[in-house]
Amino acid sequence: MSNRVGVIGGGQLARMMTVPAINLGLELKVLAESDNSSASVATTTVGDYNDLQTVLDFARGVDVITFDHEHVPLHILEALEASGISVQPPSKALAHAQNKIVMRKALEAIGAPNPIWKAVKSANELESFIAEFGPEIIVKTPLGGYDGKGVRVIKSSAEVSDWLAKETLELLGGELLAEEKVAFTRELAQLSARNPSGEFRSWPVVETRQKNGVCSEVLAPAPNLSLDLVSSSREIAELISTSLEVTGNLAVEMFETRDGRLLVNELAMRPHNSGHFSIEGSTTSQFEQHLRAVLDLPLGETAMSSVAVMVNLLGVSEDKDFVENYPELMKDFPEAKVHSYDKAPRIGRKLGHITVVGENLDAALATANQARAVVLGVQ
Ligand code: ADP
Repeated sequence: MSNRVGVIGGGQLARMMTVPAINLGLELKVLAESDNSSASVATTTVGDYNDLQTVLDFARGVDVITFDHEHVPLHILEALEASGISVQPPSKALAHAQNKIVMRKALEAIGAPNPIWKAVKSANELESFIAEFGPEIIVKTPLGGYDGKGVRVIKSSAEVSDWLAKETLELLGGELLAEEKVAFTRELAQLSARNPSGEFRSWPVVETRQKNGVCSEVLAPAPNLSLDLVSSSREIAELISTSLEVTGNLAVEMFETRDGRLLVNELAMRPHNSGHFSIEGSTTSQFEQHLRAVLDLPLGETAMSSVAVMVNLLGVSEDKDFVENYPELMKDFPEAKVHSYDKAPRIGRKLGHITVVGENLDAALATANQARAVVLGVQ
């Protein structure tokens, strides 16, 4: 059996794959950007994922290549595939997680629900979109956005004149993505996994709450969601995963609209922040499932035996590590499961998370929030 997994990217997602890799006795190797990355415990190569030779040399020592992030250039992945290396998810699937315009076109073609959208090349085209669907609309850079960077709410094309400037626009791929500003009541995320043999499993759909464009809390399962939307959510994930031939994990970020519809916001093809609850909250964690899926092993049960709340730990200072506050946290909140990503503290940086499982979402959320305040020292 193949058991050597190579992960490109040394962030917290690669770090959290190491635990199930150890449990299952798999060999996990990481190509990291630096030797003190979050996944340093499994780093075997430090190098640039934009350099074909570096990636090829790394890939030759493993059975399958997968990812901690979606930034590896497609031409590099295509070269790997051409030389017979197994890349999961394959480049043709990953293209949809790299470029939001490519994603919108594909979702439209397969009949998955998009907000109203248009690829625009000029201020004039953007003004026509605003006239039709404004007064406020959303503009996104198709490539390279994360945590709300690369997303603006605008009323006039002048508010993105920097992105429309010829040279910048070329770097961004020649087009911007304009979208209607969706009137949503909340944001949901549907996590699932699929292996190359076609087996598909999904976790319960979750509610994600963001602060300043960054995920702050995740409630699993999403409370008070109609059974219709629970099943549509799963069907949308399966449609996307199967039609685009995604392998490994797929996170579908969605809006629940005021009029009771689901619309897809964006896709990620890797473990995802919305699925961290599954480490304690589900029979199979998203990190174990991703490893099983990319190795084409049968997938694990995803059921939850109770509810779970995950809260992110975002840095509040430049110098203090929250690990210092473990004694107080552990004394007052023995039910809180804390995860450190072993990253240098910086204001707003994702440094870890806390999960609380329980019988009741409101109680678990209150406990998780109190535990977060204690460990960050902000109570
Ligand atoms: P990123 O790639 O940075 O994660 P997203 O596309 O997820 O960017 O957008 C970040 C946030 O902006 C979303 O979580 C949502 O709150 C808001 N947003 C994005 N698209 C829309 C839209 N079409 N309508 C309303 N809000 C949106």
